[in-house]
Amino acid sequence: MFFSGIRKVLVLGLGKSGCAAALLARVRNFEVTAVDETENEFLLKQKRDLENEGVNVYLGYKNEFLPPSDMIIISPGIGEHSFLGKIALNSGVRIISEIEFAFHYISKPIIAITGTNGKTTVTELCTHVLKNLGVKAVFAGNIGVPLSDIVRDEVSCDFIVLEISSFQLHYCAEFKPHIAVVLNVESDHIDWHGSFEAYAEDKFKIGVNQGAEDFLILNEYLLPLMAKSKYELSGKSQTFSIKSKSALFHVLEENIFSGKDGVCSVHEMGMMGKCPHNIENSLACIAVCKDLGFGFKEIIKSFEGFKTGEHRLEFIGEKNGVKFINDSKSTNPLSMIAALEAVGESHNVCLIAGGLDKDMDFSPLLKYKGKIKKIFLVGKSKNKLENLFRHVIDYGVFDSFEQSVNAACDCAESGDAVLLSPGCASMDMFKNYIERGIFFKEIIKRRCFENEGV
Ligand code: ADP
Repeated sequence: MFFSGIRKVLVLGLGKSGCAAALLARVRNFEVTAVDETENEFLLKQKRDLENEGVNVYLGYKNEFLPPSDMIIISPGIGEHSFLGKIALNSGVRIISEIEFAFHYISKPIIAITGTNGKTTVTELCTHVLKNLGVKAVFAGNIGVPLSDIVRDEVSCDFIVLEISSFQLHYCAEFKPHIAVVLNVESDHIDWHGSFEAYAEDKFKIGVNQGAEDFLILNEYLLPLMAKSKYELSGKSQTFSIKSKSALFHVLEENIFSGKDGVCSVHEMGMMGKCPHNIENSLACIAVCKDLGFGFKEIIKSFEGFKTGEHRLEFIGEKNGVKFINDSKSTNPLSMIAALEAVGESHNVCLIAGGLDKDMDFSPLLKYKGKIKKIFLVGKSKNKLENLFRHVIDYGVFDSFEQSVNAACDCAESGDAVLLSPGCASMDMFKNYIERGIFFKEIIKRRCFENEGV
């Protein structure tokens, strides 16, 4: 019904999910046109591949009007204030996200994970644990495997664990996960959404179509924010928290509880029990698996072998009592705070920060000033951060990333940590956070661990 009367589909943006959506739309016999504002080697290859499947492709698109269509599938990178975003909105054509499009072809239950931070970690953890529990679970979404590819490849599974961003949720209409998880909502992507309130509103959209048979799992501190949201959420709601004992899933003296029932000690959760934010991520995963009918003992046993991904508080090594940590995936103030909580003691962190700002509010970081020895600022946001930290903590401002890392290493003494947790996107200096993290590790290895095989 959702697609009745739709013949012509227009795909805006030819990143991974846009290409996947275009191909799925062809398989489903729509007439498909795809446009992208840019033109480069990668897109020229995509264009050839898509044209072979019968998609009309226009690169370097600068026209004031879009090709005619009955429905637009918009890519997450295209905000409402961008050139293509504005003309799409003005066209009056129905706009949906790639996930909303693919969702209509899915019959398997979806476990959808959103939040400002922890989406990838919790998506990977839930998939890992469910597989160990003998369930055929696959992950998809923002994590790099478009949901459209899962549909087109007819991937066989019992559950889909889906990482979903606020951009994708913004253009959802009927998306209905069986289990929805909201990990946290803090300042991020304000440039795209226009305000924190609009960003939060889109996060809560994850549960808007759920029924009484579905579950909405959320961090307890979000309840007041959710109450203010315009959406009425009717999934069975369950809370988790590492800070509040009134949450259903909570922590008391290093033990995890579900209500009054003991689940396990944090030490039984392997790597996930080692820092506060990952304990919180684990609570969300335990809640998901419990809702699917598994017992706590078997859930915790299934954590075995799980490791958080590269560039997420990744320990590089220790030299002369100084620890070196790569947290390049930290792209907002909340992840910087999580890193400081995990690594920081009294004034022991030489913190490298800065990059591309997203109109974010960094002021919550001031509460953690006691953990920072000195902050090394670089990238486009360096002056904004300098204004915040001036007169508060020792700081330095640098022209290049390498200079900032070298200065942090020069400053660190035994007992300190050199931490890259930029709290900003990387695209002002790098292709992406992976390139930034790899470069950081190269500098550290060259300086500190040459010939040591680290
Ligand atoms: P996302 O997919 O939402 O970007 P990731 O799991 O990739 O989340 O982690 C991104 C960054 O956020 C990393 O720096 C990581 O250490 C941090 N992080 C992960 N989980 C949380 C959490 N629950 N709260 C705060 N920070 C977190």
